[in-house]
Amino acid sequence: MLERIGLTALVLVATVAFLRRSRYLVRLLGLGAPDDRRPADWGRKLKQQLVVVLGQRKLLQWTVPGVMHWLIFWGFIVLLTTIIEAFGAIYQDGFALPLVGRFGPLGLAQDLFIAAVLAGVVMAVAIRKVQRPGRFTGSHLREADYILAAITGIMVTVAGARGAEIARGLFPYDTRWTPISRAVSGLFDGVAAGRLEAADTAFLWSHALLILGFLVYLTYSKHLHIVTAAINVLFTSERPKGALKPMHLDLENASEDDSFGAGVITELTWKQLLDSYTCTECGRCQSQCPAWATGKPLSPKLLIMDVRDHLFEVGGGLLSSTNGAAAELPPLNPGVIEDEVVWDCTTCGACVQACPVNIEHIDTIVDMRRNLVMSESRFPKEMQSALANLETSGNPWGQPATARLDWAKGTAREEPLDVPHISDAPDAEVLLWVGCAGAFDDRNRRVVYDFARLLQIAGVSFAVLGPDESCTGDPARRMGAEYIYQMLAEQNIEHLDSAGAPKIVTACPHCFNTLANEYTQFGGNYEVVHHTEMLADLLREGRLEPAAAMPKTVTYHDPCYNARHNDVWKGAREVIAAIPEARYGELHRHGHSTFCCGAGGGRMWMEERMGKKMNMERTDEALASSSDTLAVGCPYCNIMLSDGVTERHADSDMEVRDIAQILLASVDGSATEEAAG
Ligand code: SF4
Ligand code: SF4
Repeated sequence: MLERIGLTALVLVATVAFLRRSRYLVRLLGLGAPDDRRPADWGRKLKQQLVVVLGQRKLLQWTVPGVMHWLIFWGFIVLLTTIIEAFGAIYQDGFALPLVGRFGPLGLAQDLFIAAVLAGVVMAVAIRKVQRPGRFTGSHLREADYILAAITGIMVTVAGARGAEIARGLFPYDTRWTPISRAVSGLFDGVAAGRLEAADTAFLWSHALLILGFLVYLTYSKHLHIVTAAINVLFTSERPKGALKPMHLDLENASEDDSFGAGVITELTWKQLLDSYTCTECGRCQSQCPAWATGKPLSPKLLIMDVRDHLFEVGGGLLSSTNGAAAELPPLNPGVIEDEVVWDCTTCGACVQACPVNIEHIDTIVDMRRNLVMSESRFPKEMQSALANLETSGNPWGQPATARLDWAKGTAREEPLDVPHISDAPDAEVLLWVGCAGAFDDRNRRVVYDFARLLQIAGVSFAVLGPDESCTGDPARRMGAEYIYQMLAEQNIEHLDSAGAPKIVTACPHCFNTLANEYTQFGGNYEVVHHTEMLADLLREGRLEPAAAMPKTVTYHDPCYNARHNDVWKGAREVIAAIPEARYGELHRHGHSTFCCGAGGGRMWMEERMGKKMNMERTDEALASSSDTLAVGCPYCNIMLSDGVTERHADSDMEVRDIAQILLASVDGSATEEAAG
């Protein structure tokens, strides 16, 4: 009787402690700014729960740590039954679960998962203590040790209790189904009945105390993710992956006191605060981040942890203050997170892709940039001219709109192309979106020219917006200058809509992403295709026929805004595979795992002051592949990697060429001349 009263009291105390802490955590979330996201697409939500939460798919992107986590996660799901059985056995000898409590296969599953969880713990210890991957730098390692010790204790005590129950004849399952528990019961052979009962009681009570302690402790530790991960996944953004968080701007009615973006903790949304609760500190994001990999201070993991630590630091005071406390809050930048950290991000998406619990790092980083630019006017000085050019000339190069068609003039060796404005060719099959790099950067002008030649050869009628085209606003938006982005977006949408907007094709993944995924936020809905995909289609349809052999080794650098943000990577490989005698070799980091060239997120117009330059890191990887040609599908990558190869020129004669240029050389026969020359 005393035991029952004691356990009931302990369960009540632990439950109250858990609920009190949970209530406090929920109240802290309430300090965040509103975010009206609601699960809308329930089919997609269910799939995410099945795949990401129950299937652990993102964890399994990394086989060994993924399997380790899978074993422990599923172990605890199955072993919820043994937990109930252990508590039940304290209340009543010989307790069995209703309905399934004597079902042999359940007993077997319990035995197997006890072993599986212990195997998972051994793997976790081996990873953390022997392998010691750099991704754990900055994580709370001691806390993880406590948890692993607690999990081991929970497994040992449940196995001990099952063995003792078998020895006492109280075990509910037929022991032919539970070989592990039966083996443990052998340890009690010859033990006197009184001692056996004492051992059983000790195991059951230790188990119950560990479980109750774990329940309370997890709400104070990084293991809070056990509770919040499924909720965080449920509220994962339903935006396309490459689209930034929308921002409502009403500059005409804004006052000097208005704050934009996230300047203090309460200007992050409740979802961004929930992200911080959910971080497991696994460091997968950190290990994939090109900024961290090249020696910059930005770690997406540490950034999210800093947000959480700061929330816990100031949240209690905010909740107990009556009013006005927000005005005294320390700024997020540089108080909590250094400005430099915020500016190091290329918005490549590697962190979001890697994160097993769907944390949205880029939204938080861009919200901080929005505040730094629009409220604080504090940003790297070299950004100033790019932003001013975008605002006044509609492109970051500061070139006149009248020069937007200069690419079509060709070079001394080439014929000028006759490219109509869309208003003169309303029946054109596609609108060629040239992009600012294609219009003003010499190297990329050649790419657009060659792509346009391929369209002509394939008989695809196309037109352009010419001087009516402006920058899509991608760099402005990702630099945090939302007002410039919205101005450019509105202009472009007006021109596209009045042009009747046929299918749009572009050689720039940033333009592709913005036109396809972000203009919808302003009512612009267009069918957009990246030129590598269109070229692959034209090859499949037989409208383009590679003829000249290209006996070279070729590798392809996936642009982040194609591969990671938009799952676009097949077309480029199909094009290369179609070229006679071209031998394709994959870079180590490719597809979803591609490594950023360093130019996204507006970084094209910022200095890289610390660590190794990202373009050099990627160039070195490409050079190590010993390919003759590094194929690209993005004007920024083209510039960054060409510069990288030029810098290493003494060591290599690798050429950097866009997919369109490689294909044209085979289609028009110039590859033969190149090979001969
Ligand atoms: S988006 Fe890329 S650069 Fe930015 S934090 Fe994530 S991984 Fe790092
Ligand atoms: S943000 Fe995601 S990937 Fe990064 S440490 Fe936290 S849980 Fe791991």
